[in-house]
Amino acid sequence: MAKKNNIAVKRLPLDPGPAAWNSILPEAQKYPTLTSDIQADWVIVGGGFAGLAAAERLSQLVGNETIVLVEAGRLAEGPAGRNSGFMIDLPHELNSETYAGAHEQDLRQIRLNRAAIDFARDMAREYDIGPDVFDSCGKVTAAGSDKGVAHIESYRKHLETLGERYELRSAAEMKDWTGSDFYQKGLFTPGAVMIQPAGFIRQVAHGLSKRVSIYENSPVTEMQLGADHTVLTPRGKIRTKGVILAVNGHVQSFGFFPGRLLHVFTYASMTRALSRDEVKRLGGTKDWGVLPADPMGTTVRRSSDCMGSGDRIVIRNHATLNQSIEATPGNMKRAAMLQDRSFANRFPMLTGVDMEYRWGGRLCLTLNSVPAFGEVENRVWSACCQNGLGTVKGTLSGMMAAEQAVLGHSELLDQFIDYAVPSRLPPDPFLSIGANVTMRFKEWQAGIEL
Ligand SMILES: Cc1cc2nc3c(=O)[nH]c(=O)nc-3n(C[C@H](O)[C@H](O)[C@H](O)COP(=O)(O)OP(=O)(O)OC[C@H]3O[C@@H](n4cnc5c(N)ncnc54)[C@H](O)[C@@H]3O)c2cc1C
Repeated sequence: MAKKNNIAVKRLPLDPGPAAWNSILPEAQKYPTLTSDIQADWVIVGGGFAGLAAAERLSQLVGNETIVLVEAGRLAEGPAGRNSGFMIDLPHELNSETYAGAHEQDLRQIRLNRAAIDFARDMAREYDIGPDVFDSCGKVTAAGSDKGVAHIESYRKHLETLGERYELRSAAEMKDWTGSDFYQKGLFTPGAVMIQPAGFIRQVAHGLSKRVSIYENSPVTEMQLGADHTVLTPRGKIRTKGVILAVNGHVQSFGFFPGRLLHVFTYASMTRALSRDEVKRLGGTKDWGVLPADPMGTTVRRSSDCMGSGDRIVIRNHATLNQSIEATPGNMKRAAMLQDRSFANRFPMLTGVDMEYRWGGRLCLTLNSVPAFGEVENRVWSACCQNGLGTVKGTLSGMMAAEQAVLGHSELLDQFIDYAVPSRLPPDPFLSIGANVTMRFKEWQAGIEL
């Protein structure tokens, strides 16, 4: 990677629609905007899963040094507060039967994911985060069609090969649990956690703020690199000896990994709070979530009354590649149409219940599924590009960046580091047209699983 002295940040994050999980909570604690010139031993840029995990791990490793975290917007307003809240230990795709060496690769990824979930669980304990926000309840992958059932069967075989625990759920059990008779089969695995994502980010930040100085509405617009680095925001700057970039796909806006990152948006809708009568008509249990058996299918969650936020249903589906790192109104409109259809298919007893919030959010992927990780300039580390399962892998890359910056090596870091770099992408417009056409085709193939 070419060495740079001065980095002008090309683009700041833009998130379409409100971060509903944050909007339904009581007003958040405010952190100041950086309005003066300060010094710190460490600066973390970005306050999502990676940034907060980096701050937590750094503060464990160098508790006597000063740590500053700067976030472009408000905490829990970015992707960290707008995801479906599944912290999952098992990869969505398991390769164990597919090619030699894949078994060990799957086990390695599961070990790493579990280390990250344990780290998040330790933070939840340390900061007194209750089960309404961090619930170690496992997860269910569910199928509504024969094709979905076949996906579940194939995944189950992989779990057998790996010696992983699971339970199958019948259509009747799925109905008792969700209230919907849409699902033909479910596959429960115990290692996942369901979080109220905005609640988790807020409470971790609150706990950390006793040891880490947090600034909101303080986007980094420039970095001057030298013996000491200077991190500039519109109204103040920070002199520091070490920087961890935890900005996910926006690491490209800092000039790193050009032509190697895929910027994918996915979308969600959340109903208004259900009335008592609607809750009765729905039936089922209070808090549950299902992931789709088909990768292009629909994630559904019911969340009941976390901090007085009401009993609501969240629907997530649709994905688009937007290399501009911005979603369009057209993307939002199509997502809304698909989500209304998915909701109606699953909850005919709730006809007439409107969506109160609709939003989209960014993911970052690479063609060869490796993160954009490591020391990208002298004493500047990247903990970016999570390739799906970003609540877990973001936590992992933040922990690992802190360990690399302070320790150089650790047992977990040696397992984590993949020496492959993100592969080069085909040029646009071929990439965007090809990827979006392929995703639309796969959505069509997903049938009613969407
Ligand atoms: C609808 C939806 C559903 C999802 N569901 C799930 C799920 O169920 N499970 C799961 O694991 N993942 C899910 N994800 C993905 C997950 O949210 C992300 O992968 C995760 O948030 C990545 O964490 P991160 O900390 O790396 O990046 P982010 O959460 O994107 O945090 C990066 C932060 O950096 C800040 N930033 C960027 N540029 C600057 C700058 N110049 N200066 C200062 N700050 C800056 C941003 O504002 C942002 O807050 C979902 C995503 C969406 C959109």
